[in-house]
Amino acid sequence: MERVKTLIIGSGPAGYTAAIYAARADLKPVLYTGMEPGGQLTTTTEVDNFPGYPEGIDGPQMMVQLQQQAERFGTEVRIGHINKVEFSQEKGGIHKAYIEGGDAIEAQTVIISTGASAKYLGLPSEQRLRGGGVSACAVCDGFFYKGQDVAIVGGGDTAAEEATYLANICNKVTMLVRKGSMRASKAMQHRVTNTPNIDLRYYSEIDEVLGEQVVEGLRILNNQTGEKEEISITGLFIAIGHKPNTDIFKGQLDMDEAGYLITKGKSTKTNLPGVFASGDVQDKEYRQAVTAAGTGCMAALDAERYLQSLAN
Ligand code: NDP
Repeated sequence: MERVKTLIIGSGPAGYTAAIYAARADLKPVLYTGMEPGGQLTTTTEVDNFPGYPEGIDGPQMMVQLQQQAERFGTEVRIGHINKVEFSQEKGGIHKAYIEGGDAIEAQTVIISTGASAKYLGLPSEQRLRGGGVSACAVCDGFFYKGQDVAIVGGGDTAAEEATYLANICNKVTMLVRKGSMRASKAMQHRVTNTPNIDLRYYSEIDEVLGEQVVEGLRILNNQTGEKEEISITGLFIAIGHKPNTDIFKGQLDMDEAGYLITKGKSTKTNLPGVFASGDVQDKEYRQAVTAAGTGCMAALDAERYLQSLAN
């Protein structure tokens, strides 16, 4: 079986930054991209807050450049999804990862950068219409609803940002917030309330998404008055937060109640020797591309020091 010094799982800013550092340290990393090569930034348009890009940069383009930078130093990037792991408990032990399709790979160190995925409400009507007008990414799918009426659920920064994005393309955006206030920053809230074609509704939940094959409307419940109202829309965007991609590590790695991996102190060390975590998979607080990249760097340095400690 193939054995490598460093296996990196995930291809967002954390995974690629870990790869750049690990490759430069001659750890000859192998990186598996996962199901969504490039991670969450591939579903963004302009990234304006990554230092070093005074004019901003297109999210997918930034991920291609990160991949090229990782490959330039010898990272082997493989399109593939790890669907099972068997981690060793011992210092110096060999970790094993299984790749969808049958193969497996052994590694002395593993850097987990599997990120987080969008959450859904879980209503049967919402699940049935995923791909038929229900989306968790306005930037990816908003274009299809040009000039039409759409709705968005959520009151955080993502929902606020996506609502204003959609308002530029669509005729009208109904924004449903379940409480009487928004969690989004004040600046983002102002953008929402200053956009005339966003109809912001507090205390509002979705009772049912209407339509058989495609979204045709919503039945909205006012959770204060109990009143229900039907509106016509063609697209529904869910922006209610993310879930860390840690299912395959359950029972092996320590995680919090929401499933985020727990790292020790200021390091990227998990509870198992030689296994490190970086990026959104271990960060529910900051969740920025630049902080993910920073922890990717830390994970590679931690892996390098761990391997050195085995050699001494
Ligand atoms: P958040 O967790 O911040 O917000 C989730 C929102 O969804 C909340 O309003 C929450 O309501 C609501 N919600 C959760 N579950 C449900 C449900 N079942 N039904 C209805 N509403 C629900 O997630 P975000 O994705 O918005 O943001 C994540 C992080 O990323 C934050 O730290 C944010 O600041 C950051 N971010 C920053 C941006 C920027 O600076 N440009 C852009 C986007 C995100 P409730 O408040 O009632 O719990």
